[in-house]
Amino acid sequence: MAVYLDHNASTPILPEVLDAMMPYLKSGAGNASSLHQGGRFLRSAIETARTQIAQLVNASPQQVVFTSGGTEANNLAIKGMLELGPSSTLITTPIEHASVLQPFKQAGQAGCATYFCAVDHDGVVEREACEKLIDEKQPGLLSMQLANNETGAIQPVEYMARYAHSHSMALVHSDATQAIGKLSVDMQQLDVDLLSLSGHKFYAPQGVGALIIKNGYIKNTLLSGGPQESGRRAGTENVAMLVGLGKAAELAQTKLFETQAYLLELRRYFEQQLAAIDGVVIFSHQVERLPNTSFFSIPYYHGETLLMQLDKAGFELASGSACHSEVTQPSHVLSAMGIDESLALNAVRVSFGVDNTRQQIDQLISTLNQLIKQLPAIMRQAAG
Ligand code: PMP
Repeated sequence: MAVYLDHNASTPILPEVLDAMMPYLKSGAGNASSLHQGGRFLRSAIETARTQIAQLVNASPQQVVFTSGGTEANNLAIKGMLELGPSSTLITTPIEHASVLQPFKQAGQAGCATYFCAVDHDGVVEREACEKLIDEKQPGLLSMQLANNETGAIQPVEYMARYAHSHSMALVHSDATQAIGKLSVDMQQLDVDLLSLSGHKFYAPQGVGALIIKNGYIKNTLLSGGPQESGRRAGTENVAMLVGLGKAAELAQTKLFETQAYLLELRRYFEQQLAAIDGVVIFSHQVERLPNTSFFSIPYYHGETLLMQLDKAGFELASGSACHSEVTQPSHVLSAMGIDESLALNAVRVSFGVDNTRQQIDQLISTLNQLIKQLPAIMRQAAG
């Protein structure tokens, strides 16, 4: 079995989560909107999940809108809260996930004014630049992720949210998809109005998530139809998925400190050995990061080539680049950080999960060293 080291892409479902879901997958027909006993049983399971999600982020259950995942939550936050037209001004960062960047682009095409806060060389939003944008542009919405999926860099959301609220009328949205289960996330403390999360980043199934909306109301729905989610997101609820999401939220909350400590220890152990490789660069190394994420480049080892070699050797990682129309492009996150293109094209990401072990790290490091040895000598010299 391959060693899975790509938990920022997706986490496996925890056994306790699957156990909680099974009765709902196995039970016969039933619709949570039905008034009969079976329907009421399903409704009550959904409301338990809603409470579990609300508790995880210190919100109230009525503020939780279930979605199909982080992508839908981000779209709903941007398209659902604003009249997308010339009267709206939006600010975000260039290192957001595509599910924020694309709706922003569409908002721009619909006539909104859109602006991006600069990030520094470590991949953290520049506070002063962002303050200036807020002062000058008076946005209707500021959207800033809590932690980056590639570098793991944690963003100054609390600071910028407080600033935006005291200097403008902006609603503040944070995509907390990567932070949940790895950091403590408290909507009151963060002072955000909207928060996105996704189940498959914290050991729940794929295809389920939520947008938490502080005032509970939206202007526009993405899906209209029935009255589900208090009219904010129509469609028959996927009860088993929601039960899984709720259970994973409960576990994420009760096990947070244990999980954080375990992941941090794994990463420290990995990076100590990684640092011994000639010329290796670990991105966002100097700033606060998610405890499980290590994004690095080995000079002269093209990221995708390294990824394929490691895959052959039984290790599943992510590369930082994206393949668009058969041309490999550096990660938009590294580009925004001003990282040289040749270094950015070498980037690979290890993201640990609670199922990883030190022994797996030893195996990975030894495989990395073997692969580097096999690089032509001239490249190794140049790297050293
Ligand atoms: N935001 C971030 C930061 C993510 O990492 C992801 C998933 N890669 C998403 C949003 C989208 O979530 P989902 O896969 O649930 O649509």
